[in-house]
Amino acid sequence: MEQMISGHTRLAALFAKPARHSISPAMHNLSFAEEKIDAIYLAFDVEPENLATSIESIRTLDLLGVNLSMPHKMAAVPLVDELSPAASLIGAINTIVNQNGHLIGHNTDGIGFMRALAAIEVSIIGETITVIGAGGAATAIISQAALDGVKKIQVFNRKDDFYPVIEVKLQEIAQQTGCQISLQDLDDQLALANALAQSQLLVNATGVGMKPNENQSPLKDNSLLRETLAVYDVIYNPRETKLLQDAKAVGAKTANGLSMLLYQGAAAFELWTGKQMPVKKVQALIEML
Ligand code: NAD
Repeated sequence: MEQMISGHTRLAALFAKPARHSISPAMHNLSFAEEKIDAIYLAFDVEPENLATSIESIRTLDLLGVNLSMPHKMAAVPLVDELSPAASLIGAINTIVNQNGHLIGHNTDGIGFMRALAAIEVSIIGETITVIGAGGAATAIISQAALDGVKKIQVFNRKDDFYPVIEVKLQEIAQQTGCQISLQDLDDQLALANALAQSQLLVNATGVGMKPNENQSPLKDNSLLRETLAVYDVIYNPRETKLLQDAKAVGAKTANGLSMLLYQGAAAFELWTGKQMPVKKVQALIEML
């Protein structure tokens, strides 16, 4: 679809380091063209020391808004004027909306995750789920799930240096949302078995199983999987991790992280333009990339 750039064309952008590999420009430029919105989306490599001036340029150059990715999601929080409730709870932003110079920080990663579950007809509202990992992706997922009314979230993480920090963060999310959230050692196989027996969904929010370690799974014991335990893996490279292959083998519903990526972008697009992203067309495009 051809798009004419004129003096009126608005800019949306990605600020990240590295930014060049991102598929967000393809997603948003297709959507702007399809929805006949006079805007383009570019990716910029932004060094941490240039983040503040880059965010200030959203105001100076009247950008529509930006996406933020690693390593800027947490550092950008004090640089915006207002935070959405989810962004405030998560403590990280992946989207900034420019409302006439007033910059609002959002986090659409968790929203993307919840929409990705809806797309495979998995409902977790009022239910119990298990999440492996407690980093940036997991925090967004856990916070949004808690805000949306998931009853109980059982988090498992390796006992690394961040474990005590994660414990405090999860307590804070539990207090602010009323969701029951626990943290346990990923090596505790008995606790993991008990948690999965109670759960409707297992989420892998670690990079375990990602290329080039496709033969690895965050779950040591496949017998813990069952048909009625849906499995979501935030990884999308490869499209089918070992964990997803094992879950499919027992007949469980599964999805990879491409849908979370798609729907976090769709939520950002809605915030910037007030229009729906043409997700079917964008999905077809990103599945080819
Ligand atoms: P992070 O570094 O903030 O957190 C990584 C988590 O994985 C931590 O909890 C860490 O303890 C755990 N972990 C790492 N190696 C492990 C191992 N060998 N065994 C057990 N646990 C281990 O990273 P992040 O930003 O949360 O990203 C995690 C994954 O999610 C990455 O693969 C990333 O590509 C993916 N991701 C996907 C999306 C999406 O839209 N699909 C969005 C964000 C991140």
